[in-house]
Order: sequence, then structure tokens, then C-alpha cells
Amino acid sequence: MTNKGLLLVGSTSNVIADTICRTAELVLAITGASDPGEYTLIEADATAYIDRCPTCDNTGIFRDHVLRTLMNLPIVEFPTRLHVRLPRYRCTMRGCRVKFYQAQLACAEANK
Ligand SMILES: [Zn+2]
Repeated sequence: MTNKGLLLVGSTSNVIADTICRTAELVLAITGASDPGEYTLIEADATAYIDRCPTCDNTGIFRDHVLRTLMNLPIVEFPTRLHVRLPRYRCTMRGCRVKFYQAQLACAEANK
């Protein structure tokens, strides 16, 4: 993917992807969109997220990325899957029971 990190607002040929691009552009950087047939797949990097430990509120150390799948988007009536790449962190707070945690999207509920 050569356009990683760039917004592709309105530049795809897929109307569903375009809708989601416009809706999510504030918190997501769309990196790709495809239509395998049964559903539309949108891939994105998160640009607005909460990077603090959910247990102790400490700011952790970046470790790697995880891919989170958001489904049943309320935007369109067609099956759509949204893959969001989120950073994962290691909590360094002494005594915190959390070792690793992933950033939470500002626009989606946790663990959904
Ligand atoms: Zn912690």
C-alpha cells in the first residue's frame, strides 16, 4: 500500500466506501477499500484515539499495532466491515495489573 496514511476522501469508485470515508475522516485515515462481493471492506489507520492505560491512566510505551474489526456499521444498509489499525502499548506503571493494552477509538465503544 503506497498511500498509507493519506486520506482518500471521495476518491474511490465505491459509493459505500466514499460514505464511510466522509463519515470517518475525522478519526480515521482510510488506507484502502475493496469489495470482495459479500461485503465492502474498508481499511484505515486510527488518527484519534485514547492511548492511556484503561486501568491506571498512565501513558504507556508503544509496542506494535493490532487490527480491530468493526462491523454492523450504522452508516449504510449494505454489509460493511471496517478494519482499523490501532497502536498497542505496554503499561509501565508499577503495580498496574495491565501489561499490554490497545488504544481505544474515540468514536467506538470498547470491545465491540
Ligand atoms: Zn496501567
